[in-house]
Amino acid sequence: MGAGLTGRCLCGASRFIAEPVSDEAGVCHCSMCRKFSGGVFIVVDCSGSLVFADDAPVTRFQSSEWGERAFCARCGSSLAWLSRDGRMAFASVQAFDDPGRFPVKHEMFIDCKPGSYGLAGETTTMTEAEFMAQYAPNPEGSA
Ligand SMILES: [Zn+2]
Ligand SMILES: [Zn+2]
Repeated sequence: MGAGLTGRCLCGASRFIAEPVSDEAGVCHCSMCRKFSGGVFIVVDCSGSLVFADDAPVTRFQSSEWGERAFCARCGSSLAWLSRDGRMAFASVQAFDDPGRFPVKHEMFIDCKPGSYGLAGETTTMTEAEFMAQYAPNPEGSA
């Protein structure tokens, strides 16, 4: 994808650079992502390239057996979901300096989405079961 893209949290203390695997963004409708983000968690795959600044006050919260969530300890901004083995990193599109560059093309955990909202536009969707079957190391776990 070329050169690294930069991003930061609301207060600016937690800065990062990443080279997204794709320019297409995905939305996760699982309850943890909704709690974590306070809204609709839109992410872009930055696996292998997400690097926080050395002095960034990033705190990680282990949300499941295989995943953890990174947020700014100063302002609370949601920044990323990461697999604990370090192989996967999905950064919040909203944290990038130019969030509009990532069109939303995918919806995950579509069967966990409350009926109170919906996204416009064409997307591919995956249910929780479909997602876990494809990505989870342990079918009992969850994102
Ligand atoms: Zn911050
Ligand atoms: Zn999720």
